[in-house]
Amino acid sequence: MAFACGAQAADYAGPLFDAHLHYNEDAQSPHPLADVLDRMKRNGVQAIVANSRPNDGTQALASPKAREAGVTVVPFVRLYRNRADYDSWFRDESIYDMVQTELARGTAAGPFRGLGEFHLYDSANANGPVAKKLMALAEEKSLAVLAHADDAAIDLLMASTPSKGRNVRLIWAHTGIGGAPAARVDQLLARYPLLMGELSYRPGLTCESGKLCPEWRELVLKYPGRFMIGSDTWVNQRWQYYDELMKGYRAWLGDLPADVARRIAWDNGARLFGLK
Ligand SMILES: [Zn+2]
Repeated sequence: MAFACGAQAADYAGPLFDAHLHYNEDAQSPHPLADVLDRMKRNGVQAIVANSRPNDGTQALASPKAREAGVTVVPFVRLYRNRADYDSWFRDESIYDMVQTELARGTAAGPFRGLGEFHLYDSANANGPVAKKLMALAEEKSLAVLAHADDAAIDLLMASTPSKGRNVRLIWAHTGIGGAPAARVDQLLARYPLLMGELSYRPGLTCESGKLCPEWRELVLKYPGRFMIGSDTWVNQRWQYYDELMKGYRAWLGDLPADVARRIAWDNGARLFGLK
C-alpha cells in the first residue's frame, strides 16, 4: 500500500487533548462517569479541559477514576449555576463570588486552572463589570479563559487585563463561531501572543473529504502552536457522537505534516497547562 498512487494520508493516530469538554447535569444520568471516561479512552483522549453546569460535573470528572482511565483532567470553573446565568453573568456580582468560592475549593485533581466556558452573544457585554473583573482576575491568578465570543469581544476582553491581553491565556472557543474571516483570526493571533483557537463548530474549517479548507490549512501551518481541538459536549447528542467527532479530527489532522498534527492534537494543550 505504501506505493499506492494518490493514497489518502493515514488518520492521525497519536494522543488527543480535548480542550472544550462539558459534563453538564443533564448528561450525567444517560452518560455516567464510567461511560464518558470510556468514550475518551477508546478515542485516545488523554487530557481534557473540563467544565460543567453546575460545577459538580467537573468535580465528578476530577475523581481518581479519570487518572486510572489515563485521562488528565484540567478543571475550569463554569460561570453558570443554571441556564439563566448565561445572559447575566457579566454583570452579576454573585457569579464573581461563586468563582472565588470554587477557586478556594479546588478539585480532587488539583486547583482549578481556568474560567469558562462563558458566552457573550452581544460583544458589548464583554465590558460588563463582572466580565472585566474576571478577566483581570484570570491574568493575576494565571488562570486560562475559555470564551465563546466574536472577534470584537476578544479585543474587549483582552483590554480588561493589566497587560492589555499580552499576558493572558485566552482560549477562543470555536475560534469565532460566527465565522470571523481567517484574515481577522490571523490578525488577533498576531496581536495577542497567548491567544489560542479551539476549533469545534468553526464554520468553513473543513472542505470535501473532511480535510481542512485551503485558507484554514494555511492558517494552522502559519500558527501551528496556536490551535487545539475540542468536543464541546454541550448537549447529550455530542456525547452520543463523541467517537465520530474525534474520528473527524483525526482525519484532517492526518492530512497535515506529522509534527503540526501532533501539536494541534496534543502538544499545544499539554504545554498550555504544563502536562507531560
Ligand atoms: Zn461549549
